[in-house]
Amino acid sequence: MTRALILDRDGVINEDRGYVHRAEDVVFVDGIFDLGRAARDHGMRIVVVTNQAGIGRLYYSEDDFQALSAWMRGRFLSEGVLIDRIYHCPCHPVHGIGAYRQDSFDRKPNPGMILAAQRDFALDLAASVLVGDRESDIEAGGRAGVGATVLFDPAGEGLASACSARVGALRDAIPLLRAAPQSRRAAPDAPAGCGQNGEPAR
Ligand SMILES: [Mg+2]
Repeated sequence: MTRALILDRDGVINEDRGYVHRAEDVVFVDGIFDLGRAARDHGMRIVVVTNQAGIGRLYYSEDDFQALSAWMRGRFLSEGVLIDRIYHCPCHPVHGIGAYRQDSFDRKPNPGMILAAQRDFALDLAASVLVGDRESDIEAGGRAGVGATVLFDPAGEGLASACSARVGALRDAIPLLRAAPQSRRAAPDAPAGCGQNGEPAR
């Protein structure tokens, strides 16, 4: 089965400046292309799972989002990295407008988008790696059964987290791709830590 690198978008691929929806506002996070190339070198699929409540709030449209996604995939391709698919959830249970106001199974921390990717690409989620910058990413990964959930925490805020590892730089996640993670069920005696830079927690 196929392993995947499952990426959050805002705060992991691009700096999270709040409802980014135009190419001119995108600043790529240092190391993201290196991380993507490493995943490809390991034969992993790359999928993006991103909450986009800005659509549901009518801050920008589905078309705006799709245009930005196409541009972003083009930038990755120019760096030698194919993004297989970008999944997004436009809904918000409180702030969504009209049909967008719903507690979607796709909206992280719910696992819907990750499970859709699993179906689309026959992913081995237990052997896959998720990188996100929020607890909702980690929780979604855990609920979907992703084997390694990596919290990208450049500010070193040190929040308690159920993540498998914590990195302060995206390049520090590259070694975590190399070590094929094992499913938690298969390795109950080897709990992954959550220390800085992928080191086990003390
Ligand atoms: Mg994020």
